[in-house]
Amino acid sequence: MENVKKDYYNKITIDECLETVDEIKYEKKRIDLIKEREASVCYNSKNKGENFKCDAESVSGSVSQRACVYCGARVVLNPITDAYHIVHGPIGCASYTWDIRGSLSSGEEVYRNSFSTDLRETDVIFGGEKKLSGAIDEIVEKYKPKVIFIYSTCIVGVIGDDIDAVCREAEKKYSIRVIPVKSPGFAGNKSTGYKAACNAIINLMSTKKVIDKRNAINYLGDFNLAGEAWIISDYLKRMEIDIIAKITGDSTCSDLMNAPMARLNIVQCAGSMTYLAKQMEEIYDIPFLKVSFYGIQDIKNSLFQIADAIGNEKVKEKVRKFVEEEERKIEKELEYYRSRLTGKKAAIFVGGGFKAISLIKQFNDLGMETVMVGTQTGKPEDYEIIRSISNEGTVILDDANPAELEKFMLEKGADILVGGVKERPLAYKLGVAFCDHNHERKHALCGFEGAVNFAMEIDLTVNSPVWNYV
Ligand code: SF4
Repeated sequence: MENVKKDYYNKITIDECLETVDEIKYEKKRIDLIKEREASVCYNSKNKGENFKCDAESVSGSVSQRACVYCGARVVLNPITDAYHIVHGPIGCASYTWDIRGSLSSGEEVYRNSFSTDLRETDVIFGGEKKLSGAIDEIVEKYKPKVIFIYSTCIVGVIGDDIDAVCREAEKKYSIRVIPVKSPGFAGNKSTGYKAACNAIINLMSTKKVIDKRNAINYLGDFNLAGEAWIISDYLKRMEIDIIAKITGDSTCSDLMNAPMARLNIVQCAGSMTYLAKQMEEIYDIPFLKVSFYGIQDIKNSLFQIADAIGNEKVKEKVRKFVEEEERKIEKELEYYRSRLTGKKAAIFVGGGFKAISLIKQFNDLGMETVMVGTQTGKPEDYEIIRSISNEGTVILDDANPAELEKFMLEKGADILVGGVKERPLAYKLGVAFCDHNHERKHALCGFEGAVNFAMEIDLTVNSPVWNYV
Protein backbone atom coordinates (compact mmCIF):
# COMPACT_ATOMS: atom_id res chain seq x y z
CA MET A 1 0.00 0.00 0.00
CA GLU A 2 3.09 2.21 -0.11
CA ASN A 3 2.03 3.50 -3.53
CA VAL A 4 -1.32 4.69 -2.23
CA LYS A 5 0.37 6.98 0.29
CA LYS A 6 2.67 8.23 -2.41
CA ASP A 7 -0.34 8.89 -4.67
CA TYR A 8 -1.89 10.99 -1.92
CA TYR A 9 1.02 13.30 -1.27
CA ASN A 10 3.00 13.41 -4.53
CA LYS A 11 2.38 13.33 -8.22
CA ILE A 12 3.09 9.80 -9.46
CA THR A 13 3.65 8.31 -12.89
CA ILE A 14 0.91 6.49 -14.81
CA ASP A 15 2.76 3.18 -14.41
CA GLU A 16 2.91 3.63 -10.65
CA CYS A 17 -0.74 4.54 -10.61
CA LEU A 18 -1.73 1.39 -12.54
CA GLU A 19 0.33 -0.68 -10.13
CA THR A 20 -1.64 0.89 -7.26
CA VAL A 21 -4.98 0.07 -8.90
CA ASP A 22 -3.85 -3.52 -9.43
CA GLU A 23 -2.73 -3.79 -5.82
CA ILE A 24 -6.08 -2.48 -4.56
CA LYS A 25 -7.97 -4.89 -6.82
CA TYR A 26 -5.83 -7.77 -5.63
CA GLU A 27 -6.47 -6.87 -1.98
CA LYS A 28 -10.22 -6.49 -2.52
CA LYS A 29 -10.50 -9.91 -4.16
CA ARG A 30 -8.82 -11.48 -1.12
CA ILE A 31 -11.24 -9.98 1.42
CA ASP A 32 -12.87 -12.71 3.54
CA LEU A 33 -16.59 -12.74 4.28
CA ILE A 34 -17.73 -11.99 7.83
CA LYS A 35 -18.59 -15.36 9.39
CA GLU A 36 -22.25 -14.39 10.09
CA ARG A 37 -22.67 -13.36 6.45
CA GLU A 38 -21.58 -16.66 4.94
CA ALA A 39 -25.09 -18.15 4.87
CA SER A 40 -26.33 -15.20 2.75
CA VAL A 41 -23.77 -15.66 -0.03
CA CYS A 42 -23.37 -18.64 -2.36
CA TYR A 43 -22.11 -19.78 -5.73
CA ASN A 44 -25.15 -21.00 -7.63
CA SER A 45 -25.42 -24.73 -7.89
CA LYS A 46 -28.56 -26.55 -8.93
CA ASN A 47 -28.00 -29.09 -6.16
CA LYS A 48 -27.11 -26.78 -3.29
CA GLY A 49 -28.40 -23.55 -1.78
CA GLU A 50 -31.49 -24.76 0.10
CA ASN A 51 -30.20 -23.13 3.28
CA PHE A 52 -29.62 -19.73 1.71
CA LYS A 53 -30.38 -17.04 4.31
CA CYS A 54 -32.43 -14.00 3.26
CA ASP A 55 -35.37 -11.84 4.43
CA ALA A 56 -33.66 -11.43 7.81
CA GLU A 57 -32.27 -8.56 9.86
CA SER A 58 -28.86 -7.22 8.75
CA VAL A 59 -25.76 -8.40 10.60
CA SER A 60 -24.64 -5.66 13.01
CA GLY A 61 -21.48 -3.95 11.82
CA SER A 62 -21.57 -5.50 8.36
CA VAL A 63 -22.33 -2.08 6.73
CA SER A 64 -25.34 -3.31 4.81
CA GLN A 65 -26.38 -1.50 1.59
CA ARG A 66 -29.99 -1.48 2.86
CA ALA A 67 -31.75 1.74 3.83
CA CYS A 68 -33.45 2.26 7.22
CA VAL A 69 -37.11 1.61 8.12
CA TYR A 70 -38.05 5.29 7.81
CA CYS A 71 -36.44 5.54 4.36
CA GLY A 72 -38.37 2.43 3.19
CA ALA A 73 -41.64 4.04 4.31
CA ARG A 74 -40.80 7.42 2.84
CA VAL A 75 -39.92 6.17 -0.65
CA VAL A 76 -43.26 4.37 -0.91
CA LEU A 77 -45.45 7.26 0.28
CA ASN A 78 -43.49 10.16 -1.17
CA PRO A 79 -44.88 9.99 -4.75
CA ILE A 80 -48.51 10.68 -3.60
CA THR A 81 -48.64 14.03 -5.30
CA ASP A 82 -51.02 15.97 -3.04
CA ALA A 83 -50.05 14.57 0.39
CA TYR A 84 -48.02 16.48 3.00
CA HIS A 85 -45.23 14.67 4.82
CA ILE A 86 -43.94 15.76 8.24
CA VAL A 87 -40.78 13.97 9.32
CA HIS A 88 -40.80 13.95 13.12
CA GLY A 89 -37.09 13.79 13.88
CA PRO A 90 -33.78 15.59 13.40
CA ILE A 91 -33.41 17.56 10.18
CA GLY A 92 -30.98 14.96 8.77
CA CYS A 93 -33.74 12.34 8.36
CA ALA A 94 -35.82 14.73 6.24
CA SER A 95 -32.92 15.91 4.10
CA TYR A 96 -31.71 12.31 3.57
CA THR A 97 -34.98 11.50 1.77
CA TRP A 98 -35.94 14.89 0.36
CA ASP A 99 -37.17 14.61 -3.24
CA ILE A 100 -35.12 11.45 -3.72
CA ARG A 101 -37.39 9.75 -6.21
CA GLY A 102 -37.54 10.76 -9.86
CA SER A 103 -41.34 10.34 -9.58
CA LEU A 104 -43.22 12.59 -11.96
CA SER A 105 -46.60 14.19 -11.41
CA SER A 106 -49.33 15.14 -13.85
CA GLY A 107 -50.78 17.61 -11.33
CA GLU A 108 -49.75 18.69 -7.83
CA GLU A 109 -46.08 19.15 -6.91
CA VAL A 110 -46.61 19.32 -3.12
CA TYR A 111 -44.91 15.95 -2.62
CA ARG A 112 -41.56 17.42 -3.63
CA ASN A 113 -41.38 19.37 -0.35
CA SER A 114 -40.05 17.97 2.89
CA PHE A 115 -41.30 19.21 6.28
CA SER A 116 -39.47 18.41 9.50
CA THR A 117 -39.93 19.06 13.22
CA ASP A 118 -36.14 19.47 13.45
CA LEU A 119 -35.83 17.79 16.88
CA ARG A 120 -32.93 19.06 19.06
CA GLU A 121 -31.34 18.09 22.40
CA THR A 122 -34.00 19.85 24.51
CA ASP A 123 -36.78 17.99 22.65
CA VAL A 124 -35.00 14.73 23.35
CA ILE A 125 -35.05 15.60 27.08
CA PHE A 126 -38.53 17.15 27.36
CA GLY A 127 -40.30 15.32 24.49
CA GLY A 128 -41.23 16.44 20.97
CA GLU A 129 -45.03 16.09 20.95
CA LYS A 130 -45.70 19.84 21.36
CA LYS A 131 -43.35 20.61 18.51
CA LEU A 132 -45.15 18.08 16.31
CA SER A 133 -48.57 19.58 17.10
CA GLY A 134 -47.12 23.00 16.31
CA ALA A 135 -45.82 21.76 12.95
CA ILE A 136 -49.26 20.34 12.07
CA ASP A 137 -50.95 23.65 13.05
CA GLU A 138 -48.52 25.60 10.87
CA ILE A 139 -49.02 23.37 7.81
CA VAL A 140 -52.81 23.41 8.18
CA GLU A 141 -52.81 27.18 8.46
CA LYS A 142 -50.47 27.79 5.51
CA TYR A 143 -51.44 25.05 3.03
CA LYS A 144 -54.92 23.69 3.95
CA PRO A 145 -53.92 20.02 3.38
CA LYS A 146 -56.40 17.13 3.09
CA VAL A 147 -53.93 14.46 4.20
CA ILE A 148 -50.73 14.63 6.27
CA PHE A 149 -48.43 11.68 6.91
CA ILE A 150 -46.39 11.89 10.14
CA TYR A 151 -43.22 9.77 10.18
CA SER A 152 -41.53 8.65 13.37
CA THR A 153 -37.74 8.36 13.13
CA CYS A 154 -35.05 6.72 15.30
CA ILE A 155 -35.01 9.38 17.97
CA VAL A 156 -38.81 9.35 18.31
CA GLY A 157 -38.61 5.59 18.84
CA VAL A 158 -36.11 6.23 21.63
CA ILE A 159 -37.86 9.09 23.46
CA GLY A 160 -41.29 7.50 22.96
CA ASP A 161 -43.40 10.44 21.70
CA ASP A 162 -47.00 9.27 21.28
CA ILE A 163 -47.51 10.26 17.64
CA ASP A 164 -50.78 8.27 17.46
CA ALA A 165 -52.28 10.57 20.11
CA VAL A 166 -51.01 13.72 18.36
CA CYS A 167 -52.48 12.52 15.02
CA ARG A 168 -55.86 11.66 16.62
CA GLU A 169 -56.01 15.06 18.26
CA ALA A 170 -55.17 16.88 14.99
CA GLU A 171 -57.77 14.88 13.02
CA LYS A 172 -60.43 15.92 15.56
CA LYS A 173 -59.30 19.55 15.58
CA TYR A 174 -59.11 20.06 11.78
CA SER A 175 -61.37 17.29 10.33
CA ILE A 176 -58.64 16.14 7.94
CA ARG A 177 -56.66 12.88 7.76
CA VAL A 178 -53.45 12.93 9.83
CA ILE A 179 -51.88 9.48 9.53
CA PRO A 180 -49.01 8.15 11.65
CA VAL A 181 -46.28 6.15 9.89
CA LYS A 182 -44.54 3.89 12.43
CA SER A 183 -41.02 3.99 11.09
CA PRO A 184 -38.23 4.45 13.67
CA GLY A 185 -35.11 3.77 11.58
CA PHE A 186 -33.71 1.04 13.83
CA ALA A 187 -36.97 -0.92 14.22
CA GLY A 188 -36.14 -3.47 11.51
CA ASN A 189 -34.99 -3.02 7.93
CA LYS A 190 -36.20 -1.37 4.73
CA SER A 191 -38.93 -4.06 4.33
CA THR A 192 -40.36 -3.06 7.72
CA GLY A 193 -40.60 0.48 6.35
CA TYR A 194 -42.50 -0.77 3.27
CA LYS A 195 -44.94 -2.46 5.62
CA ALA A 196 -45.36 0.71 7.70
CA ALA A 197 -46.14 2.67 4.50
CA CYS A 198 -48.66 0.04 3.36
CA ASN A 199 -50.38 0.20 6.76
CA ALA A 200 -50.59 3.98 6.40
CA ILE A 201 -52.20 3.56 2.93
CA ILE A 202 -54.75 1.09 4.36
CA ASN A 203 -55.44 3.61 7.11
CA LEU A 204 -56.13 6.23 4.42
CA MET A 205 -58.44 3.87 2.48
CA SER A 206 -60.37 2.94 5.67
CA THR A 207 -61.32 -0.65 6.34
CA LYS A 208 -64.98 -0.53 5.39
CA LYS A 209 -66.28 -3.26 3.02
CA VAL A 210 -66.87 -1.90 -0.49
CA ILE A 211 -70.03 -2.90 -2.31
CA ASP A 212 -69.81 -0.40 -5.13
CA LYS A 213 -67.21 -2.19 -7.34
CA ARG A 214 -65.98 -0.81 -10.68
CA ASN A 215 -64.76 -2.73 -13.71
CA ALA A 216 -61.20 -1.47 -13.26
CA ILE A 217 -57.86 -2.34 -11.67
CA ASN A 218 -55.23 -0.80 -9.37
CA TYR A 219 -51.59 -0.70 -10.41
CA LEU A 220 -49.40 -1.21 -7.31
CA GLY A 221 -45.66 -0.67 -6.97
CA ASP A 222 -44.90 1.73 -9.80
CA PHE A 223 -43.52 5.06 -8.60
CA ASN A 224 -43.72 6.80 -11.99
CA LEU A 225 -39.97 7.18 -12.30
CA ALA A 226 -39.30 9.05 -15.54
CA GLY A 227 -43.02 8.64 -16.35
CA GLU A 228 -43.00 4.81 -16.34
CA ALA A 229 -46.49 4.53 -14.82
CA TRP A 230 -47.77 6.62 -17.76
CA ILE A 231 -46.26 4.15 -20.26
CA ILE A 232 -48.00 1.20 -18.60
CA SER A 233 -51.29 3.11 -18.13
CA ASP A 234 -51.20 3.82 -21.86
CA TYR A 235 -50.68 0.11 -22.66
CA LEU A 236 -53.61 -0.82 -20.43
CA LYS A 237 -55.79 1.90 -21.91
CA ARG A 238 -55.14 0.45 -25.36
CA MET A 239 -56.42 -2.89 -23.99
CA GLU A 240 -59.49 -0.97 -22.69
CA ILE A 241 -58.49 -1.64 -19.08
CA ASP A 242 -59.19 1.25 -16.67
CA ILE A 243 -56.96 2.06 -13.69
CA ILE A 244 -58.49 3.49 -10.51
CA ALA A 245 -55.27 4.12 -8.57
CA LYS A 246 -51.61 3.94 -9.42
CA ILE A 247 -49.96 3.18 -6.08
CA THR A 248 -48.17 5.37 -5.54
CA GLY A 249 -46.63 7.02 -8.64
CA ASP A 250 -48.59 10.07 -9.81
CA SER A 251 -51.45 9.20 -7.42
CA THR A 252 -53.64 11.50 -5.38
CA CYS A 253 -55.13 10.89 -1.95
CA SER A 254 -58.61 10.58 -3.44
CA ASP A 255 -57.38 7.95 -5.99
CA LEU A 256 -56.07 5.93 -3.06
CA MET A 257 -59.34 6.28 -1.15
CA ASN A 258 -61.21 4.92 -4.23
CA ALA A 259 -58.79 2.00 -4.74
CA PRO A 260 -60.95 -0.51 -2.77
CA MET A 261 -63.53 -0.36 -5.62
CA ALA A 262 -61.18 -2.20 -8.03
CA ARG A 263 -61.73 -5.80 -9.19
CA LEU A 264 -58.04 -6.69 -9.56
CA ASN A 265 -54.68 -5.46 -8.25
CA ILE A 266 -51.54 -5.85 -10.34
CA VAL A 267 -48.25 -5.58 -8.42
CA GLN A 268 -45.06 -4.39 -10.14
CA CYS A 269 -42.68 -3.81 -7.19
CA ALA A 270 -43.43 -7.00 -5.25
CA GLY A 271 -40.93 -6.16 -2.47
CA SER A 272 -42.76 -3.05 -1.36
CA MET A 273 -46.35 -3.84 -2.31
CA THR A 274 -47.12 -7.54 -1.83
CA TYR A 275 -48.09 -6.83 1.77
CA LEU A 276 -50.58 -4.14 0.66
CA ALA A 277 -51.97 -6.43 -2.06
CA LYS A 278 -52.51 -9.20 0.52
CA GLN A 279 -54.19 -6.78 2.93
CA MET A 280 -56.49 -5.52 0.16
CA GLU A 281 -57.37 -9.10 -0.78
CA GLU A 282 -58.32 -9.83 2.81
CA ILE A 283 -60.21 -6.61 3.53
CA TYR A 284 -61.78 -5.75 0.14
CA ASP A 285 -61.75 -9.15 -1.67
CA ILE A 286 -59.47 -7.88 -4.45
CA PRO A 287 -57.30 -10.66 -5.94
CA PHE A 288 -53.81 -9.73 -7.10
CA LEU A 289 -51.24 -10.68 -9.73
CA LYS A 290 -47.49 -10.10 -9.58
CA VAL A 291 -46.28 -8.61 -12.85
CA SER A 292 -43.13 -7.09 -14.28
CA PHE A 293 -42.89 -4.66 -17.18
CA TYR A 294 -39.10 -4.83 -17.43
CA GLY A 295 -37.77 -6.84 -20.40
CA ILE A 296 -39.70 -8.17 -23.39
CA GLN A 297 -40.33 -11.63 -21.95
CA ASP A 298 -41.83 -10.33 -18.71
CA ILE A 299 -43.86 -7.58 -20.39
CA LYS A 300 -45.49 -10.13 -22.69
CA ASN A 301 -46.17 -12.59 -19.86
CA SER A 302 -47.61 -9.85 -17.67
CA LEU A 303 -49.97 -8.49 -20.31
CA PHE A 304 -51.24 -12.01 -21.13
CA GLN A 305 -51.65 -12.76 -17.41
CA ILE A 306 -53.72 -9.59 -16.92
CA ALA A 307 -55.88 -10.40 -19.96
CA ASP A 308 -56.43 -13.92 -18.61
CA ALA A 309 -57.38 -12.62 -15.16
CA ILE A 310 -59.89 -10.23 -16.71
CA GLY A 311 -61.14 -13.16 -18.77
CA ASN A 312 -62.43 -11.10 -21.68
CA GLU A 313 -61.74 -12.55 -25.19
CA LYS A 314 -61.70 -9.07 -26.76
CA VAL A 315 -58.97 -7.94 -24.35
CA LYS A 316 -56.92 -11.10 -25.04
CA GLU A 317 -57.08 -10.48 -28.79
CA LYS A 318 -56.02 -6.86 -28.30
CA VAL A 319 -53.03 -7.97 -26.20
CA ARG A 320 -51.93 -10.46 -28.87
CA LYS A 321 -52.02 -7.81 -31.61
CA PHE A 322 -50.38 -5.13 -29.47
CA VAL A 323 -47.50 -7.39 -28.42
CA GLU A 324 -46.85 -8.47 -32.02
CA GLU A 325 -46.80 -4.89 -33.28
CA GLU A 326 -44.56 -3.56 -30.50
CA GLU A 327 -42.08 -6.43 -30.79
CA ARG A 328 -41.80 -5.90 -34.53
CA LYS A 329 -41.05 -2.18 -34.00
CA ILE A 330 -38.04 -2.73 -31.73
CA GLU A 331 -36.63 -5.97 -33.20
CA LYS A 332 -33.93 -4.35 -35.35
CA GLU A 333 -32.67 -2.02 -32.65
CA LEU A 334 -32.37 -4.83 -30.12
CA GLU A 335 -30.52 -6.95 -32.67
CA TYR A 336 -27.98 -4.13 -33.12
CA TYR A 337 -27.33 -3.93 -29.35
CA ARG A 338 -27.09 -7.73 -29.08
CA SER A 339 -24.32 -7.69 -31.62
CA ARG A 340 -22.36 -5.23 -29.44
CA LEU A 341 -23.07 -6.81 -26.04
CA THR A 342 -22.93 -10.57 -26.55
CA GLY A 343 -20.39 -12.18 -24.23
CA LYS A 344 -20.24 -9.29 -21.71
CA LYS A 345 -20.66 -10.04 -18.01
CA ALA A 346 -23.19 -8.32 -15.73
CA ALA A 347 -23.47 -7.92 -11.96
CA ILE A 348 -26.81 -6.95 -10.39
CA PHE A 349 -27.57 -5.53 -6.95
CA VAL A 350 -31.06 -4.05 -6.65
CA GLY A 351 -33.83 -3.55 -4.06
CA GLY A 352 -36.29 -6.36 -4.72
CA GLY A 353 -36.24 -9.89 -6.12
CA PHE A 354 -38.71 -9.28 -8.95
CA LYS A 355 -36.51 -6.62 -10.54
CA ALA A 356 -33.43 -8.86 -10.26
CA ILE A 357 -35.29 -11.70 -11.99
CA SER A 358 -36.38 -9.44 -14.87
CA LEU A 359 -32.84 -8.09 -15.22
CA ILE A 360 -31.29 -11.57 -15.49
CA LYS A 361 -33.76 -12.34 -18.30
CA GLN A 362 -33.01 -9.02 -20.02
CA PHE A 363 -29.27 -9.69 -19.94
CA ASN A 364 -29.85 -13.21 -21.31
CA ASP A 365 -31.87 -11.70 -24.12
CA LEU A 366 -28.95 -9.37 -24.94
CA GLY A 367 -26.53 -12.32 -25.02
CA MET A 368 -24.89 -11.31 -21.71
CA GLU A 369 -24.13 -13.48 -18.70
CA THR A 370 -25.14 -12.50 -15.16
CA VAL A 371 -22.16 -13.39 -12.97
CA MET A 372 -23.33 -11.86 -9.68
CA VAL A 373 -26.86 -11.09 -8.48
CA GLY A 374 -28.20 -9.84 -5.17
CA THR A 375 -31.02 -7.88 -3.59
CA GLN A 376 -31.70 -5.84 -0.46
CA THR A 377 -35.11 -7.33 0.35
CA GLY A 378 -35.57 -10.50 -1.77
CA LYS A 379 -37.72 -13.31 -0.34
CA PRO A 380 -36.90 -17.06 -0.38
CA GLU A 381 -39.28 -17.62 -3.34
CA ASP A 382 -37.49 -14.85 -5.33
CA TYR A 383 -34.09 -16.47 -4.71
CA GLU A 384 -35.47 -19.83 -5.81
CA ILE A 385 -36.35 -18.32 -9.20
CA ILE A 386 -33.02 -16.46 -9.34
CA ARG A 387 -31.17 -19.72 -8.78
CA SER A 388 -33.19 -21.55 -11.40
CA ILE A 389 -32.53 -18.97 -14.15
CA SER A 390 -28.86 -18.23 -13.27
CA ASN A 391 -25.87 -20.18 -14.52
CA GLU A 392 -23.88 -22.56 -12.33
CA GLY A 393 -21.27 -20.58 -10.41
CA THR A 394 -23.12 -17.24 -10.48
CA VAL A 395 -22.58 -15.48 -7.15
CA ILE A 396 -25.90 -14.94 -5.34
CA LEU A 397 -25.94 -12.69 -2.30
CA ASP A 398 -28.60 -11.14 -0.08
CA ASP A 399 -28.30 -7.83 1.83
CA ALA A 400 -24.69 -7.38 0.70
CA ASN A 401 -22.17 -4.78 1.84
CA PRO A 402 -19.70 -2.79 -0.31
CA ALA A 403 -16.74 -5.10 0.42
CA GLU A 404 -18.66 -8.17 -0.78
CA LEU A 405 -19.91 -6.44 -3.93
CA GLU A 406 -16.40 -5.29 -4.82
CA LYS A 407 -14.87 -8.69 -4.09
CA PHE A 408 -17.25 -10.63 -6.32
CA MET A 409 -17.40 -8.08 -9.13
CA LEU A 410 -13.62 -8.39 -9.42
CA GLU A 411 -13.53 -12.15 -8.92
CA LYS A 412 -16.12 -12.73 -11.65
CA GLY A 413 -14.74 -10.07 -14.02
CA ALA A 414 -18.02 -8.13 -14.32
CA ASP A 415 -18.15 -5.56 -17.13
CA ILE A 416 -21.09 -3.70 -15.63
CA LEU A 417 -22.93 -3.31 -12.32
CA VAL A 418 -26.66 -2.51 -12.26
CA GLY A 419 -27.74 -0.91 -8.99
CA GLY A 420 -28.67 2.33 -7.27
CA VAL A 421 -27.02 5.46 -5.99
CA LYS A 422 -25.05 3.67 -3.25
CA GLU A 423 -23.57 1.13 -5.68
CA ARG A 424 -22.48 3.65 -8.34
CA PRO A 425 -19.17 4.70 -6.70
CA LEU A 426 -18.24 1.07 -6.00
CA ALA A 427 -18.36 0.29 -9.71
CA TYR A 428 -16.61 3.43 -10.89
CA LYS A 429 -13.78 3.05 -8.35
CA LEU A 430 -13.04 -0.37 -9.81
CA GLY A 431 -13.24 0.79 -13.42
CA VAL A 432 -16.48 -1.14 -13.99
CA ALA A 433 -19.37 0.35 -16.00
CA PHE A 434 -22.60 1.21 -14.14
CA CYS A 435 -26.33 1.41 -14.93
CA ASP A 436 -28.71 3.18 -12.52
CA HIS A 437 -31.89 1.11 -12.15
CA ASN A 438 -33.07 2.86 -9.01
CA HIS A 439 -35.39 5.72 -8.14
CA GLU A 440 -33.11 8.60 -9.16
CA ARG A 441 -32.95 7.73 -12.85
CA LYS A 442 -34.27 10.13 -15.44
CA HIS A 443 -35.29 7.83 -18.30
CA ALA A 444 -37.87 5.07 -18.51
CA LEU A 445 -36.69 1.46 -18.50
CA CYS A 446 -40.06 -0.30 -18.50
CA GLY A 447 -42.24 -1.33 -21.42
CA PHE A 448 -41.09 -2.01 -24.98
CA GLU A 449 -39.52 1.45 -25.37
CA GLY A 450 -37.82 0.96 -21.98
CA ALA A 451 -36.27 -2.32 -23.17
CA VAL A 452 -34.57 -0.40 -26.00
CA ASN A 453 -33.49 2.41 -23.62
CA PHE A 454 -32.00 -0.22 -21.32
CA ALA A 455 -30.02 -1.93 -24.12
CA MET A 456 -28.81 1.45 -25.37
CA GLU A 457 -27.66 2.51 -21.90
CA ILE A 458 -25.85 -0.78 -21.28
CA ASP A 459 -24.12 -0.46 -24.66
CA LEU A 460 -23.14 3.19 -24.08
CA THR A 461 -21.60 2.48 -20.69
CA VAL A 462 -20.05 -0.97 -21.28
CA ASN A 463 -18.57 -0.01 -24.64
CA SER A 464 -17.53 3.51 -23.63
CA PRO A 465 -13.98 4.36 -24.79
CA VAL A 466 -13.28 5.70 -21.28
CA TRP A 467 -12.55 2.15 -20.03
CA ASN A 468 -9.50 1.99 -22.34
CA TYR A 469 -7.91 4.69 -20.16
CA VAL A 470 -8.62 3.23 -16.71
S1 SF4 B 1 -34.59 7.32 10.91
FE1 SF4 B 1 -32.67 6.83 11.95
S2 SF4 B 1 -31.47 5.60 10.48
FE2 SF4 B 1 -33.17 6.59 9.35
S3 SF4 B 1 -32.31 8.52 8.54
FE3 SF4 B 1 -33.21 9.04 10.53
S4 SF4 B 1 -31.57 8.77 12.04
FE4 SF4 B 1 -30.89 7.76 10.15
